[in-house]
Amino acid sequence: MNKNTPYYRAIGKEIDVFEHSYKNKIPFLLKGPTGTGKSRFIEFMAYKLDKKLITISCHEETSSTDLIGRYIIKGAETIWLDGPLTTAIKEGAIIYLDEIAEARPDVIVAIHSLTDHRRELFIDKLGITVKAHHDFMLVASFNPGYQKGFKELKPSTRQRFIATSFDYPEAKIEAEILINETKIEIEIAKKLVNIATKIRNLTELGLTETVSTRLLVDAAKLIHSGLPKRLSVEVAIVEPLTDDIEVVEALKDLCNLMI
Ligand code: ADP
Repeated sequence: MNKNTPYYRAIGKEIDVFEHSYKNKIPFLLKGPTGTGKSRFIEFMAYKLDKKLITISCHEETSSTDLIGRYIIKGAETIWLDGPLTTAIKEGAIIYLDEIAEARPDVIVAIHSLTDHRRELFIDKLGITVKAHHDFMLVASFNPGYQKGFKELKPSTRQRFIATSFDYPEAKIEAEILINETKIEIEIAKKLVNIATKIRNLTELGLTETVSTRLLVDAAKLIHSGLPKRLSVEVAIVEPLTDDIEVVEALKDLCNLMI
């Protein structure tokens, strides 16, 4: 692996699982909370397999047209422009639909024929069906806890994917990730991980999302670049978590004791 290889610390057997899914071209679903390394994992796998990666961050307005393509007016002409999904199918890229459950329902309908033996996409605006390139693979992520069941993935959709769960890594591995990502000293990395573990266990706070590895990496970066430790923790870990002033104060006190 050369220095351009994205850094990814494997947690379990996910690399093997992905390689075999890719070999068999079975769509792959990454489940888990935000900031647990899902996107980094896909970047790493695309690099390892030497495939182009096209990432789409899905949101509530993302429609099948955004993915498949649309006609645009250019001067006096109307021309067809392939969307990222169509491009990926034709070029044999890996497409990563991040937070797929956020997208509009027509996205799920549009990908159905790509997720079974047909491996084809119907472009209704052109009235044609495009067969996927042999190297094409569909990958999606989904955050099961987010919005408490509001945006679910239907079983009929989920069952079209191989799925693996991502979660916060165990303390030793998480410290290792912080050190690799930011070159921070081991003692500080350990303290940041302790803070995260403590806050993650405070379920009574009712936070929608708790401290992710991403927040820890951000705090470690600030500390490494010279911002005072407590301030770094406050702005990178505590403030992004909640707007409740009392909770912010309580978490700040807790963190100040720990770093
Ligand atoms: P997600 O896609 O799950 O929201 P990301 O892949 O963007 O999360 O991860 C957020 C950050 O956390 C990454 O930029 C990276 O710094 C770090 N990270 C988390 N898990 C890992 C891991 N296993 N190996 C390397 N870096 C990781």
